[in-house]
Amino acid sequence: TFANVQAGSTIYTQAFALTKAFQDDKSDKKVNLSVGAYRTDDGKPWVLPVVRKAEIMLANDETLNKEYLPVLGLEDFTNASTGMLLGSASKAIAEGKVISTQTLSGTGALRVAAEFLSRQMNFNTFYYSAQTWENHGLIFMNAGFTDGRTYRYWDSEKRCIDFEGFKEDLNNAPENAVIILHGCAHNPTGSDPTHEQWKELAQIIKSRKLFPLFDCAYQGFASGNLDNDAWSVRYFADNGFELLCCQSYAKNFGLYNERVGNLVIIVSDPSVIANIKSQLLLVIRAMYSNPPSHGARIVAKVLNSPQLYEEWKTCISTMAERIIKMRKQLRERLEALKTPGTWSHITTQIGMFSFTGLTPKQVEYVVNECHVYMMGTGRISMCGINSSNIDHVAQSIHDAVV
Ligand code: PLP
Repeated sequence: TFANVQAGSTIYTQAFALTKAFQDDKSDKKVNLSVGAYRTDDGKPWVLPVVRKAEIMLANDETLNKEYLPVLGLEDFTNASTGMLLGSASKAIAEGKVISTQTLSGTGALRVAAEFLSRQMNFNTFYYSAQTWENHGLIFMNAGFTDGRTYRYWDSEKRCIDFEGFKEDLNNAPENAVIILHGCAHNPTGSDPTHEQWKELAQIIKSRKLFPLFDCAYQGFASGNLDNDAWSVRYFADNGFELLCCQSYAKNFGLYNERVGNLVIIVSDPSVIANIKSQLLLVIRAMYSNPPSHGARIVAKVLNSPQLYEEWKTCISTMAERIIKMRKQLRERLEALKTPGTWSHITTQIGMFSFTGLTPKQVEYVVNECHVYMMGTGRISMCGINSSNIDHVAQSIHDAVV
């Protein structure tokens, strides 16, 4: 009976719960730094102008209809998306070694990937960074994996990557373990390996026969440049790795709720592609049958038009530059307030988030006493900070720390 249903854990949905608490909060000082979504300097959600433009074009295109897309999605979208990820010089694409399928945003790509790896490759162990986006573990366990482990990633004392720990944990991982890697703009720490470090990681993954899976939810958000942000994935692809990569257009296109994603699979032998595709068809058919078209059409329109593509890149720069400006100003304010501790990590970290280093108790203070909503880990979304609330945010952090 329903009476047997136990309460579910709330840790996986914390960002949504904090947003609800923020909405219910009557204080005029309230600030929401929990959700990973871009806001303008007026604190408003932003529909990218290039997205509006593409939507108008689609609305006026009478050749389009509302019929089902194929199970693996819109090819104009999946091809363009894969090209954007791997670059125009990609050998894997030229040699026909790439499969791609449209998915329900990044989460959907991860779920399809995990189902496929569990059912078809019989992989059972997966590793994710400590810390990571909280959904990684949940997705993989729900998809059939039973052995979820962490690799060391964040040194909270030094506030940087624990690279020696990271390498040691990979070196001790069993063969065929799936290693979930953040392609760029690591969530929540905002700290990525350097190119040299990626090369070392690739070496270990190869020699230990581990299986790399890239989660690429923030292409463009780390450096503001799409090619730079795809460096890690391209390095692995160009060096002959078989891999999976999950793309999301939630952040870099602002299409959060349209659920546009792409799962890319690179193989070394093209003769296996037909079988893999037939299995992906079954995974998706049984899960949601086929993906929605609207968001994928927007992305396809933009990626396939040189002019719209340029406009999109400008939108990405606008977002990336505002975030960098807020990082600089927040650090300056904390330093001016002489808040105990060092705050240089706020500007060295990249992407949407900053891992402030606040303790759970300090976070509790900031949320309950100052109406500044942030994740229990001390992660803040830089996008929630703007010219009007930055003084309050800085003062709240200061008050929590002193
Ligand atoms: N991966 C990471 C690291 C994320 O931070 C997110 C979103 O916050 C996602 C994947 C997937 O998001 P979505 O399913 O909205 O594309």
